[in-house]
Amino acid sequence: MKRRSSSRRRGKVILVGAGPGDPGLITVRGLEAIRQADVILYDLLVSSELMEEFPPGAETIFVGKEAGTHYVDQAETNALLVQKAKPGKTVVRLKGGDPYTFGRGGEEAEACARAGIPFEVVPGITSGLAAPAYAGIPVTHRDASSSIALITGHRRSDGTVRTIPAPRADTLIYYMGVRTLPQIVAALRKEGWPANTPAAMVHRGTTPRQLVVAGTLANIVKRATEAQIRHPALVVVGKVAAYRKRLRWFEDRPLLGRRILIAQALPEAKELRDELYRLAAEVTCLPSPALSLLARTPKLDAAIKKIQQFQVLLLAHPLAVQVFFQRLAALGLDARALSHLELAACGRAARSALEAKQLHCDFQLPLDLDPKSVPPVFNSVAAVFNRYRKKKILFPDTLPGPNSLLQALNKIRAEVTLVPAYAAQPAPALTKVPVHQELIVFPARQGVEDLLSQVILPIYVHLAALGPAPASALQARGLTPTFSLRSLDTASAVAAILQWASKHRPRKTKPSD
Ligand code: SAH
Repeated sequence: MKRRSSSRRRGKVILVGAGPGDPGLITVRGLEAIRQADVILYDLLVSSELMEEFPPGAETIFVGKEAGTHYVDQAETNALLVQKAKPGKTVVRLKGGDPYTFGRGGEEAEACARAGIPFEVVPGITSGLAAPAYAGIPVTHRDASSSIALITGHRRSDGTVRTIPAPRADTLIYYMGVRTLPQIVAALRKEGWPANTPAAMVHRGTTPRQLVVAGTLANIVKRATEAQIRHPALVVVGKVAAYRKRLRWFEDRPLLGRRILIAQALPEAKELRDELYRLAAEVTCLPSPALSLLARTPKLDAAIKKIQQFQVLLLAHPLAVQVFFQRLAALGLDARALSHLELAACGRAARSALEAKQLHCDFQLPLDLDPKSVPPVFNSVAAVFNRYRKKKILFPDTLPGPNSLLQALNKIRAEVTLVPAYAAQPAPALTKVPVHQELIVFPARQGVEDLLSQVILPIYVHLAALGPAPASALQARGLTPTFSLRSLDTASAVAAILQWASKHRPRKTKPSD
């Protein structure tokens, strides 16, 4: 193969469709592109779960419109794409739905083409097709519709009055049509669509805030006004809109729209978050510390080179597992170099990461270690834990390390070598008091401290402790949880939350914007 004369990497722009809102509805290729991006430009319709996939260290730029912030206009966005890609970077432009469906993606691609920047397009699932599906409306059906038109209901912001199109198709799907709904209906009636034609509006389709109103051309305006349907929403017109009566499914999920805060950013709590999301709850997690890789890991490398001197390898975070094995391989070693070691994990997530490498974990320390209660907390596991007394433990983690774990190890006079494997920036402070939450779930004790040191909780919010440690931390602050579980186990937590939801009806709040 001929080598390129210049070793300089060429920059490129990837226009990626993020899908309609449910973070699971991005494409495999789209997710791949996000994970390899140096720069990501995103806007408001991109879900926060997808934002978690942004690689640590990538530059992220919000280019949407949001109250109170500077609005980056289209020309600026186009210029930014070119400017960021020019020095050789991979720039992902992440857009809600599909980039070429009413997303002005075409203009962004043109800007790249004009500037000679290579670009790719990763199509996305457009909201116009996905939101009706989640609302129980098949956009085509052999008995009811053999054609679809996707239409913008928006009038140009330059003030020119444009008539709303009423094309000939069996199913009409209007984007950006909330404000112009009365004109849309008037235009269709004028074209001869009967007043009893089924119609529906889908607000925030595919997300826990999905809200649907259905009716006919005669009453949809009144119903949408009564339900205070706002942007973003789609208007669906045609016989298929009536199928919702029989085909609705998403809104029947047991936790639809229930607002639950998981008050600790633990890898262990991710599984619970995903389960609750699948049941259509609106789950929020406390801001997590930003984890990043280190450019160099000299102390870890030195420790690996004399791995024979250690007796225990302790890992407390999946990222530590990943980095440890990367460095092991980089130094020309593999798992055989660990055969003399006991493997200990702190928490289930680190253990699973070890198991994914086909390594059996000899001992799992509980996440909620309270040094004051050593040995009582460990009574049941004291025999195993005692094995670590005075032992040499290699502990690749982040500095200064988990305080309670280190104190506990210190108590049994273990000789711990803590070496930095990754960096963690403290979590950003909470910007909002969680007033809209209905239930706050504490997976571990630290979350109680983190949350309550920042905010005073409204009295109507229910609290749940997923283990004795967070339960006693709440009690110590005079707070009684609505329910407490024996441990942080996803299945029992989901069962308990479902039971809580059936007993406590949703609190009424203002309609979502
Ligand atoms: N490129 C996007 C559309 C951008 S235009 C796509 O392919 O989906 C913005 C409009 O899309 C909104 O005004 C609304 O009409 C629609 N929209 C986007 N996400 C939506 C959602 N989750 N539910 C309902 N409508 C949505």
